[in-house]
Amino acid sequence: MIFFYGTKASTIKNGIINNVTCPHCDTNTGMNYSIFGKYAHLYWIPIFPVGKVKILECKNCKSTYELKKLPESIQQKFNKEQEQNPSKTPIHHFALLIIIGLGVIFGFYSSFKSDSDSKEFAENPKVGDVYFETTSTGKYSTSKVTKVTTDSVFVLVNNMEIDKKSNVYKINTNSNFTTNTYGYSRKQIIDFVKDGKTIYEIQRK
Ligand SMILES: [Zn+2]
Repeated sequence: MIFFYGTKASTIKNGIINNVTCPHCDTNTGMNYSIFGKYAHLYWIPIFPVGKVKILECKNCKSTYELKKLPESIQQKFNKEQEQNPSKTPIHHFALLIIIGLGVIFGFYSSFKSDSDSKEFAENPKVGDVYFETTSTGKYSTSKVTKVTTDSVFVLVNNMEIDKKSNVYKINTNSNFTTNTYGYSRKQIIDFVKDGKTIYEIQRK
């Protein structure tokens, strides 16, 4: 796999400093400057900032300089102007870190929500609930609640099972449910969800 990565820069501030002497044309003049924020990118999505580049241009002779190559007196003037009017690194230079962070938070939240939903659905079963299960052979399958009584839950069993947990939704189709009904006590269903394995998730529409 080829990764497209590297660094790019975008302008984060433009301004002027006045009353400086250009080292090239020796004129007392002003200089326009631009501050570029450099950022590391992956597939052109900014990951994080990697520093700033400061470029100045003499208004008189149009010579351009990197700040660090100019005389100390001009650098000091520039830095004073920045203290009064600081440039900020734009938040989108952190885009990928923010996206990953949000993804992690959302992942934790969904898994927490799904666990608490499953416990709640186990305690109050309803016709139509789908149980996602680990089979006795260590594969994955589903069953569907068809009847609930005061002490029992009856399910239709899926004909199919699948190796990959993330693909179990593929076999969870109506045509895969046989007429074979199994009955469990309601207590068993709660225990199956508690062990987190026999039934690892309950979905309700
Ligand atoms: Zn000049």
